[in-house]
Amino acid sequence: MDHDDLVAFIRDEMRMQHIYQPLLIKTLVECGGSATVRQLAQAVLALDESQLRYFEKQIKAMPVKVLKQHGVLSREGDVVSLETPRLSLEQRSEITTLCEQKLNEFIKDRGMEIWESRYASEPVSTSVRYEALKRAGKRCELCGVKEGDSNYENRLPLHVDHIVPRSKGGSNDIENLQVLCRACNLGKGNRDDTDFRSKDG
Ligand SMILES: [Zn+2]
Repeated sequence: MDHDDLVAFIRDEMRMQHIYQPLLIKTLVECGGSATVRQLAQAVLALDESQLRYFEKQIKAMPVKVLKQHGVLSREGDVVSLETPRLSLEQRSEITTLCEQKLNEFIKDRGMEIWESRYASEPVSTSVRYEALKRAGKRCELCGVKEGDSNYENRLPLHVDHIVPRSKGGSNDIENLQVLCRACNLGKGNRDDTDFRSKDG
């Protein structure tokens, strides 16, 4: 495939289900033509709003709060700043090396366990959410209301809902997800784990 073919593919033939295809091509171009799967995953992660929002929330809740209490940093709205006055090049190098040492020791000590608590509360990824909506035909799987139905605007938008709630150990697997409108979702609450999809006609 030459350059013109690639341009034609991107412009006219690429059928997008999500952000992945153009993002992968762009990343490969930026990496000089080839990249590891890990590099491609990092590019996807950098644009995954659900993951970014999760970590923004986590950062504000824990490390910022603790480091503030110790007088290390301050936060004003979305801006976090070190309380240490301007650092010289040597001082910066000393501190980054020290932090890297601490990181490496901790990772070596704990391994994957570091991330395990995270998996318990991570949000449904944008791709799984999309798959669930696609499977449901973008309709409520209980009452059948469809995104864009003008008579039922008060029932919209559609929610991707956990059949077994997260609080009861339900997973983010697509098998544990169903699409419900606002009204059906409110009616369901967290009280039971009814799989409304079985009533699907
Ligand atoms: Zn409904």
